Amino acid sequence: MSKLQELELEVRNCQKCPLYKTKIQAVPGEGNSHPDIIFIGEAPGASEDRQGKPFCGAAGKFLDQLLVHINLKRKNVYITNVIKCRPPGNRDPEPKEIRMCLPYLERQIEIIHPKIIITLGRHSLSQFFPERRISNDHGKAVRRQGQIYFFSYHPAAALYNNSMKKELMVYFKILEKLIIMQAAGRSKQKD
Ligand code: URA
Repeated sequence: MSKLQELELEVRNCQKCPLYKTKIQAVPGEGNSHPDIIFIGEAPGASEDRQGKPFCGAAGKFLDQLLVHINLKRKNVYITNVIKCRPPGNRDPEPKEIRMCLPYLERQIEIIHPKIIITLGRHSLSQFFPERRISNDHGKAVRRQGQIYFFSYHPAAALYNNSMKKELMVYFKILEKLIIMQAAGRSKQKD
């Protein structure tokens, strides 16, 4: 079993915060085990809780469309959340729940060591850049300690908002360029 699989198992058996009592299934994350790219959402919703997979409900369907839009295959990236168990009624995660769960995300990032980290929504953004605001920073990319962070709105925010949907489509094209540039930079380094 790989380190990432061991960690996923640990998450599935986690009882560190009370969310384990109300969840159906924990949702550790899913995807390629050596990806260059990781997407980080907020927390599982009802569909994710039932299926144990991240972004498999309505927001996930839109994320899938965004991935197709920029020629990314879901199997080639890793997708996870800040919080691994569904907060009841989809309420915002509490600070204590985030504190207890965050080490799992930190370890996932340490193991995967992605080149590009995409934060989806304000909760995900604020774990990495507490001083930044999604209203100000959506669509921006920054480099920190050799990794590129790209800040996106949460796909769920665009579900009933066509102009935000279009905006996300545009931003994801910027992300596509970043991915292409990053991959080109790496192959140049190998030459
Ligand atoms: N919203 C999230 O933030 N994550 C999911 O996995 C599903 C919906």
